Amino acid sequence: MEDIGSEVRSCTLCTLSDSRTNPVPGEGDPDADIMLIGEGPGKNEDEQGRPFVGRAGELLTELLRNIGLSRERVFITNVVKCRPPNNRDPKKEEIKKCQPYLNRQIEAIQPEVIGTLGNHATETLIGEKGISKIHGKEFDYEGRILIPLYHPAAGLYNPNLKPTMEKDFNKLKDISGK
Ligand code: URA
Repeated sequence: MEDIGSEVRSCTLCTLSDSRTNPVPGEGDPDADIMLIGEGPGKNEDEQGRPFVGRAGELLTELLRNIGLSRERVFITNVVKCRPPNNRDPKKEEIKKCQPYLNRQIEAIQPEVIGTLGNHATETLIGEKGISKIHGKEFDYEGRILIPLYHPAAGLYNPNLKPTMEKDFNKLKDISGK
């Protein structure tokens, strides 16, 4: 896992490396049962080199706390490891260049369950769109259980979603056996 982190930190495989401040490989327990995958670093994450440290991150931490878990007990990362300029969506070729890092992280961690946060991560891994229909359901990702989850930012824009998000996180916990 440390090797992957240092490769990401010196990665220049795509042009996102030109505009980033810090790459964001991901963080948490390298033996985690739960792995959470977001879209890509935003401004705060780019500044700090850590995933989900802004307001969406605060909500993610709260959702984890609600199921009795700290951030340190899961592994949190993103589909792309460097911030897309002005928070634009990551491009297909950027995702493709970055995906081997994610696959290697999944291989190294061997999580019981993967939670994809939002449409982008979900579509990247299982090719499914429409998070409002598929959140909380179980999918297969290369022999592992994957559950699409609302992106925490969605809960900031629409606090009415929070009870649903809590329910989905409970499911994640149940499946992980934690
Ligand atoms: N949004 C994401 O998808 N990832 C982060 O790390 C922060 C915000």
